Formats: sequence, C-alpha cells, structure tokens
Amino acid sequence: MAMKEWMEAGDKHVMGTYKRFPVVLTRGAGMSVWDTDGREYLDFAGGLAVCGLGHSHPRVAEAITAQAQTLLHVSNLYHIEAQIRYARVLTENSFADKVFFCNSGAEANEAAIKLARKYGHTRLGGKYELITMLNSFHGRTLATITATGQEKFRKGFAPLPEGFKYVPFNDIEALADAVTDKTCGVLLEPIQAEGGVFVPDEGYLRAVRELCDRKGILLIFDEVQVGMGRTGTLFAYEQSGIAPDIMTLAKSMANGFPVGAMLATDKAASAFEPGDHACTFGGNPLAMAAALATMDVMLSDGVLANCRKVGAYFMAELAKRKAKYGIIRDVRGKGLIIGVEMEEEVAGTVNKCLDKGFLVASAGPRVLRFLPPLIVSEAQVDRLLFVLDSILGGK
Ligand code: PLP
Repeated sequence: MAMKEWMEAGDKHVMGTYKRFPVVLTRGAGMSVWDTDGREYLDFAGGLAVCGLGHSHPRVAEAITAQAQTLLHVSNLYHIEAQIRYARVLTENSFADKVFFCNSGAEANEAAIKLARKYGHTRLGGKYELITMLNSFHGRTLATITATGQEKFRKGFAPLPEGFKYVPFNDIEALADAVTDKTCGVLLEPIQAEGGVFVPDEGYLRAVRELCDRKGILLIFDEVQVGMGRTGTLFAYEQSGIAPDIMTLAKSMANGFPVGAMLATDKAASAFEPGDHACTFGGNPLAMAAALATMDVMLSDGVLANCRKVGAYFMAELAKRKAKYGIIRDVRGKGLIIGVEMEEEVAGTVNKCLDKGFLVASAGPRVLRFLPPLIVSEAQVDRLLFVLDSILGGK
C-alpha cells in the first residue's frame, strides 16, 4: 500500500489523540528509520528519548526473542527470576534499595504519588500535599496531569485530584515558602524536558534536597525522560551531588519495549504494604529481559561516554549557530537532550527537517528538541547541522 493510503487508513482507525506528521514508519536500524515508501530518515527524536541504543538493537532483539521462547508472563504473585535480576542491577547502580515495576512514565509517577501519600499518611501524621513545578510534565493520567504544572494538559478534565501545588522551577525561595504542615513531598524533573529543556542552576537541586531533609519530607525525581544515560550519566541526579528518596523511570529502560519503574530508598518504600499498589504486567519477564539487555549494553559499550562526547560537540556547534543566526535565542541541555529556543514557532523548521530526511522534535511552540539515540556520531550530527544551516540560513 502507498504511504498516502496508509495515512488515510490510520486516520480512519486510530484515535486522533496525536497531531501526526505525514509519514508512516515501518522499520528501523541504529540511527535510521524507513517509511513505507522505502525512504530513510535519520532519527534525532529517538522515539522521544526511548531508543537510547538506536533502533532494533540486536542484543535487545536477541534477549526478547530468547525470553519469549522461555517464559513470557507469570503473575507478580510469584517471584520472577528476570525481575529480580533487573531490580538488583537497578539498585546496585543507583541510590535506591527497592524497585516497583510498571509499563510507562505516567504509571511510574502514579506509583510515586501514591507512595508519597501513603508515607505522609503513615509516617508524617497525615500530610498529603505534593509540591510540583510550573512548566513540568509528569504524564497523562488524572493524577499526573494534576501534578503537571501546565494548565493546558488539565483543561476539560475536571474534577481533578486534590493536594497538588505549583511553584516556579529553579526558585528555592518560592519552594521553601510553599511548604506547609500538609506537605509530604516535592516532585520535580531534574531537567524540565517537555516544558522546553530547562536545566536548573548549579546548587538548586542540592538546596531542594536540604529543604526536604530539614522539613522531613520526600524528594521525588521524575527521570522518565532524562534518566537511563540521556544526560551522560546513567541517572541525571548523579551530576547534582545529591540523591532523591524516590525516582521514576520509563522511556529508554528497554530501548523501546514498554517498561516503567518507581525506585525508592528502604525508608520510603517501607510505607507500601502488600495490597497497596499493583500492576499486572509490571516487571513481566519479557520486559525485564529487554531492560536487562539494554542496561548491559549501556554500561559496557561506551554508550555514556559517546553521549557526553557527541552531546558536547552538538551543543558547541549549535552555540556557534546561535552567534550566527539572530533567530536562535538560546541553546541549552545536557548530554543528548538539547533544546534550541527560537524567536518564532518551530513547527515549520520541524517539517522542513522531515522533508529533508531528519526526524526532530519540539518542546512547546518555540523550542526545537533533539533526543537522538545515545550512539549518534559526530558525522551524523554534522549531517543534521548542514540541513539546519540551509533552513536557518534561508530565514
Ligand atoms: N514524565 C516525564 C518527565 C516525561 O517526559 C513523560 C513523557 O514524555 C512522562 C512522565 C510520561 O511518560 P509516559 O508517556 O510513558 O506515560
């Protein structure tokens, strides 16, 4: 079927919750994806920070195939070998002592919100309020759109759960002023991703940690987008010199296979008792095999070093374009999450990139966002920069 017919069939049968680009993708390998007409694109959107190791990574594909032929699913009523193996790897490589598995970022944040509430209920004398950040993004369930500090995601979905309060990101005084005798925790992204790629000032996350410690409340980091190597370390919090009490992950955990997780210290995790929370598919053997293989490649194949090296090169080259083209207002990010804020809306630039064979994302109306697989090379970055030069130079 020609691509145009596929798109018509898609519009007919798939619910219209996304405004989709006019392309139908069918295959991927490494940095490349192909459409149904056989045209190749270099993927600088990376499935929105999902395909950290590149598309169809052979080691992940092999692990999924082998596990599918061994044990696909059993209930969490039983101990599951692959789940125990992966939970051990996660805790050995992070601040956390315990892991709860689910299938997505929103579910991971739901679990974190419930754990914080239960902790407040049982350990903090009934405190229940969570402070989150303006301009944040935490998912699309009712609780996570409420945690999300952007009105546009909540519009039309009232009544919403109570007990959320918002303060500006990167403003420690506003946060300190917002804490009350009802506050049980603070939830934030260590780098605001969907909101426009905002990296906090040096020392902000440390100050938030100190405030939470002083008040005896929980600090929750949403690393759904910036975790799993995206910033050049396995987790973004590692670069701040502090650790949260709870952290959520999803997106690139299994390089495209759906996995989410909520990690916590023993102290925080102890608030959950059997029956308090559950997830049928969470930590299922197939997902765990994919996640284990992903982690193995990420920790052993120089992936993080490449992310740091190519990320620094990409940022430096974009900064040169900022000096050259008046239309670029700011270039910011860390590792391979990079935002380019423009003086005008970026939809046209994103479409032109697609026309020239490059998938790039946006973050809000004026920010171009690059989230390529962490295996991207400088030569591939140069190919995108060449195209960007031709687009921006024409303005
Ligand atoms: N948290 C953050 C920081 C995200 O960027 C996202 C998705 O973009 C989510 C949560 C929601 O994740 P999911 O779409 O897997 O539910």
